[in-house]
Amino acid sequence: MPIDATAPYDDQNIFAKILRGEIPNKTVYEDEYALAFHDINPQAPHHILVIPKGAYVSWDDFSANAPETEIAGFIRAVGKVAREAGLVEPGYRLLANVGMDAHQEVPHLHVHIFAGRKLGPMLA
Ligand code: IMP
Repeated sequence: MPIDATAPYDDQNIFAKILRGEIPNKTVYEDEYALAFHDINPQAPHHILVIPKGAYVSWDDFSANAPETEIAGFIRAVGKVAREAGLVEPGYRLLANVGMDAHQEVPHLHVHIFAGRKLGPMLA
């Protein structure tokens, strides 16, 4: 079910549980600001999720409320994950769904990294 991106942060969401180590995940990268792991239902040969360590519901919450060090650290981590996975050439797509119409399902900010096939002009 898509979520309301303006709702308060729910610390029982599945990515909060992954961050606390309560649910297993296939980690590909971790630093002070971010955790990256394989999506459980991949939509491309490479489908990685990158989440901030801080408690932010969505990109909207994060971009409005996170300290600049966390924003910079997270954005650098997303780039590093893609670079270390060898995705810069031939390319990759970033996607962050925000709220109901975008079909955001998990109420903790996550950036999708898609790669490994021709993705077309837009995702459906
Ligand atoms: P959203 O629609 O942008 O919120 O994407 C949520 C993503 O989280 C989907 O692509 C799911 O497949 C993925 N997902 C949900 N639960 C897990 C999990 O436990 N591990 C990894 N990925 C998950």
